[in-house]
Amino acid sequence: MKQEIGKKRIIIALDGPAASGKSTTARRVAERLGYTYIDTGAMYRSVTLKALQQGVLDLLRHSPENVSGLLHPLAIHFEGDHVFLDGRDVTAEIRENRVSREVSFISSLKPVRDRLRQMQQELGRQHGVVMDGRDIGTVVFPDAELKIFLVADARERAKRRHAELLATSRDGIGLPSLDALEEEIRSRDRDDAEREHAPLKKHADAHEIDTTNLTIDRQVDMVCNLALEREQVDG
Ligand code: C5P
Repeated sequence: MKQEIGKKRIIIALDGPAASGKSTTARRVAERLGYTYIDTGAMYRSVTLKALQQGVLDLLRHSPENVSGLLHPLAIHFEGDHVFLDGRDVTAEIRENRVSREVSFISSLKPVRDRLRQMQQELGRQHGVVMDGRDIGTVVFPDAELKIFLVADARERAKRRHAELLATSRDGIGLPSLDALEEEIRSRDRDDAEREHAPLKKHADAHEIDTTNLTIDRQVDMVCNLALEREQVDG
């Protein structure tokens, strides 16, 4: 779309802890560069929703080897901002708290990671993608031309998540408190960073950006400027 002739379309890997601003930044960077945005967290959330729907979470905690029923068949695709799981639009459901609470467990299972990594590598094959997650720069695309690691203070992240939930709730009743959200975010970060397979960690080549005091526009500018440099260097 907005690509200039002679420039290379690159892969931008955007990793970082929960609620660090990855998806908003990634979506806007993709729009500006005419790239495709791929939200890999939505893929892990979709598999988690499937486990909840099949009622197999307790079984998997005791016997993780039974996970293959979740993965075959498994169809996840994106249409604009919408996510489809086995043909059904699950965009809203995968953001529910019951999914957020269980997603780190499902993401810790190696067969789940292997299957989703394969799908993600296929989705990025054409280049011109911004992919956000936890292990994109380290495991999924270690050769990505641009790797970004976003971080932000946990309290600030809880505030952002709270504002997001308020904006989408009808009356604000029943929303988790700021403290509860901060605890959920900290505990998810711990689980994601301490797991055995593809833990959350910064790649040595990644540019770290602390977004605590940055506006979204500033974050987007910073990532786009780096991307434009890489498009030239690698083109
Ligand atoms: O990005 P989001 O917060 O929606 O991700 C939900 C969860 O999915 C993370 O807490 C993590 O457990 C898992 N995830 C992952 N690897 C990725 C993306 C997400 O393990 N690449």
